[in-house]
Amino acid sequence: MGAHANRKATKRIGLMGGTFDPIHHGHLVAAEEARYQFGMEKVIFIPAGIPPHKTRKDISPPHHRLEMTVRAVATNPSFAVSDLEIHREGPSYTIDTVRAMQEMYCGWELFFITGADAVLEILTWKNVNELLQKCCFIAATRPGYRLGSLDRKLGDLPPASVARIKTLEVPALAISSTDIRRRVREGRPIKYLLPKAVEEYIYQHSLYRS
Ligand code: ATP
Ligand code: MG
Repeated sequence: MGAHANRKATKRIGLMGGTFDPIHHGHLVAAEEARYQFGMEKVIFIPAGIPPHKTRKDISPPHHRLEMTVRAVATNPSFAVSDLEIHREGPSYTIDTVRAMQEMYCGWELFFITGADAVLEILTWKNVNELLQKCCFIAATRPGYRLGSLDRKLGDLPPASVARIKTLEVPALAISSTDIRRRVREGRPIKYLLPKAVEEYIYQHSLYRS
């Protein structure tokens, strides 16, 4: 009873980072399922400025990725977008974002939502133990990525850190931004893979043509 009341008192917020080039229904379904299963007040989508893990040179300009993300979340009152990383100089490290969010949402419990592929990269991230102290990670299942290999990779982390990584089963959507960009380039349909407002934005601004 006491513990339950305590838990209720701490508001939870989810952070969903990504390149979002473009944002699609895989991102939105994972965020919504995490919000529901972990009882979050809201989920904040944070498009990355210069993602430290991306080597792709032709990432769309930040203002396009930000605008597509804003349009994609508009119909969900529990979703919001932060331009924090986009307006920061230099590469965006998750630890800096989490520190900033911790100040903005003082007293809130933070969760960082990622897909199974992204969480497998955690060990290469800057300040991983501090990161896991500050927020729990939620690894959403994603077609093509086995959560089983996660346990092996986590072997080097302290048990207290490992305990901060939760897995989340989400309806499997084999959608990726890479595939959407390829489809646009090849003139194939992207309808139903992402929100209509994002699809329209892509065509209006001739994104992913070359
Ligand atoms: P790209 O193909 O350019 O890498 P992406 O589709 O992987 O794009 P990102 O912006 O890289 O999208 O992903 C942001 C976050 O969303 C990552 O944590 C990623 O694992 C997760 N994610 C992306 N697509 C899905 C999906 N279909 N199901 C679950 N999680 C996903
Ligand atoms: Mg990706």
